[in-house]
This record gives sequence, C-alpha cells and structure tokens, in this order.
Amino acid sequence: MTETPLMSMRLRVEQDIFVVRQLGREVARAVGLEAQDQTRFATAISEVGRVLLAAGPDAEVAFAVRPYGVPTLHVVMTHPAVGEAARVSRQVQQVGRLVETMEVENGDDSTVVRMSRRLPPGVPGLTPARMEEIRAGLAQHVPGSPLDELAVQNQQLIAALDEVRAQRDDLARLNAELEETNRGVMALYHQLSEELEETNRGVVALYAELDEKSVQLRAASEAKSRFLANVSHELRAPVTAIIGLGRLLTDSASDALTGEQNRQVELIRSSASDLLTLVNGLLDLAKAEAGRIEANWTQVDLKAMFGQLRGTLRPLATRPEVDFVVDEPVVPVLRSDEVLLAQVLRNLLINALKFTEAGSVRLSSLLIDGDIEFIVSDTGTGIPPELHERIFEEFYQVPGNKPVSGKGTGLGLPYARRLAGILGGGLRVDSTPGEGSAFTLRLPATT
Ligand code: ADP
Repeated sequence: MTETPLMSMRLRVEQDIFVVRQLGREVARAVGLEAQDQTRFATAISEVGRVLLAAGPDAEVAFAVRPYGVPTLHVVMTHPAVGEAARVSRQVQQVGRLVETMEVENGDDSTVVRMSRRLPPGVPGLTPARMEEIRAGLAQHVPGSPLDELAVQNQQLIAALDEVRAQRDDLARLNAELEETNRGVMALYHQLSEELEETNRGVVALYAELDEKSVQLRAASEAKSRFLANVSHELRAPVTAIIGLGRLLTDSASDALTGEQNRQVELIRSSASDLLTLVNGLLDLAKAEAGRIEANWTQVDLKAMFGQLRGTLRPLATRPEVDFVVDEPVVPVLRSDEVLLAQVLRNLLINALKFTEAGSVRLSSLLIDGDIEFIVSDTGTGIPPELHERIFEEFYQVPGNKPVSGKGTGLGLPYARRLAGILGGGLRVDSTPGEGSAFTLRLPATT
C-alpha cells in the first residue's frame, strides 16, 4: 500500500452526506490544504457520496495520504453495487474539476470512485507522528447537525462571493492598467512615427543634395574632357608642324647646319615628338572619357593579332637578358574590337618591356568561367600593393620606378582601363615589388 490510511466511514443515510462533507473538510484542513481547496475537496466528496447513495446504502469512504514524493491526499469511495461506474461517472462529470484526478471504475463486486488532490508545497512534513496526531484529531471530530452544515456552507458561499467580487475588482483594475499602457504605447508609436517621418525628410533632402552634387560632378568631368580634347586637338597641328620643320632643317637637301645647330634642332624635334605623344595620349583619354569611342564589334582573329604584336614589339625587346614571349591564343577568334583590343595589349606589353631589366615578358591567355583573360606578365621592378589602384589614375607614375628604356606620360594605364570597359570587361594588376607584375585584361569570351 503506497498510501497511509487516515480514516474511513460508511454512508448509510442521507445525513451521512453532511457528515462526510464535514469530515472531508477536516481531513483537508488537517493535511494542510488551503480554505478554498478544503471546500472544493469536501464538495467533491459530498457530491460523489450523494450520487453513490442513490444506488443504495453502505458506500465506504476511505481517506489516505501519500506523505512522500509529491504529497497527495486520496479518497477512495467504494459502493457494493456492481456495474454502476457508467452512471456514476456521467453524474459526477463536473466534480472532476474540483479535484486533481478522478477515476470511476467497476470492481469485481463493487463500484469504485478514486479522487486525489496534491498538497501545496511547504506544508509541515507528514511524519508518522504527525499522521497519528491527525488521526486522533479526526476520531474526536463530532459531526454537526445538517443545520450546522448549512450554516458552514452559507459562510463558504459568502466567502466565495467575496472572492468573486475581489476578482472582479482585480479585473477592473487590470483593465484600467491595460488601457493606461495602451495609451502609453500609442503615444510612443506616434512619437516614433513622427521621428521616422522627420528622419525620412532628412534623408530625402540629403539625396536631393547628393543628386545635385553628382550632376555638378558630371558637368565638371565633361567640361574637363572637352577642355582636354580641344586643347590637345589645337596643340596637335603646331606640334606636328614643328616636327616636320625640324626634319626639313636637318634634311640633306637643305642648307648644311653647323654641328651645334644640328644638335639644337635635334633637341627641338625630340621634345616636340614627346609633346606629340602626350597630346595624342590626352586626346585619346578625353575621347574615351567623353564616351566618344565606340567598339566596332567584329570577329577578331586572335592568332593573327598575337602574331602582329609579336612582330611589331620585338624590335622594342632589345635587351638580350629579356625573353619576349607571345603564346598562342587560347581561342583562335573572339568577338571584340580589333583596334581597341590590340591597343590595350600593346600598352601593357610596352609597359612590361619598359620596366623589365632581365627575365621575361610574356603574353598568354586562358578561359575562365565563360570569360577570356589576357595576361601580360613580366619579371620587372613590380609595383607596391598600395599603389595598385593609383597607377590607373591619370599622370600617376610609381616614384622610383625608372623605365629601363623610353619614357612615359602616365596616361597609358588609365586609357587601357577605359578601353577595357568599352570592350565589356576590366583590367587589374597583381604585382610584387622586386618580383614582377601581371596585368590581366578580362573580357567576355563570346565568339
Ligand atoms: P607610363 O606612360 O608612365 O608607362 P602608364 O599609365 O602606362 O604610364 O603607367 C603608369 C605607371 O605604372 C608607370 O609609370 C609605372 O610606374 C607603373 N607601371 C606600369 N606598368 C608597369 C610594369 N609592367 N612594371 C612596373 N611598373 C609599371
């Protein structure tokens, strides 16, 4: 037996229902249930008792407790009538709510109703001595008359009504608090939406300003390109004329010049031709920036182009310490602009030859993710990583990177990058100072 019996009684006549109710309340009180739970428990027992008594007298009501684990109060009500479980459980359906567990079953020679109710945590320990004490107390319990019970029930009813009223007051207070909170939340919401609106207005104004600035910037950039194009165009004719005149002066058909005169005219010619290179570079870049260069898309014979680059640039690769290699292209043809593509590769190759003292300069190509990459690699001076982007700015030249041969204007790479963009691709550099550089032109590999 897992429960420790407390006491039991029999229901013989209707009055016993009151007795068992009182007893139930006493038991509940003795084991530590609170006033409301005492009433619930007592009501459950008297209601089940009433239903059982309808089947005849002699139902036994036994109270017990389980003092360990989760301490629980149990009551087992056994009626000698057989097969009453269905009726009883139908009639006591509502009673189940008053206790924690309730089972109604048909025994071999009886109908049994079991109910239990957990004891609140923290009730004084139900030691054997305490159980003995409770038992003694219950044995002395003298049942009152039905009138007494009625009075007690009335009191309980009043207490229950008070409780309901208190709960209603609580509810009203909670509602008021909720309303207050809602008002607070609404105020906060309004404040937030006003702030958001304010911020939005600020952002919109900022964007308008930004738009205006970018229009100004575009206008300034266009003005710069126009200026460069005009100036270089205007300069080209006189500079070309100076070069021509110089050539005429030193021509064998002209009057012979003195040695000093010859030297000075040669100086004028070479300065003028440097100037022409610069002017041409500026003009090209200005045209590219102004969007005046358009690709002329054709099937470009890469094999032939590579051959031509090999042929035209070999004379520049004069140093025996430098291996100049142009590999076979990875594909024979590519849809692109022949002139612009050759221009970019030529710029890169000339740079590589210019900055490589010994080792090799190589043009190769490969296919990658639907693109084609043209790689111009060299074993030259290299470029410090922090300058990898700066070298694509106009006129920028890496300080201390002296070309092995020839001169430069600082316009070749910005122009090459513009052209790469016009061809639908991009130009990037990988380089380590002292080891060399690799410039990669990546284009869509359409044929
Ligand atoms: P530049 O006419 O001076 O060659 P670019 O725009 O072509 O003008 O190049 C800008 C600068 O980038 C060069 O002056 C040089 O300092 C650096 N540079 C370009 N290519 C190479 C390279 N292959 N090796 C080392 N430095 C390079």
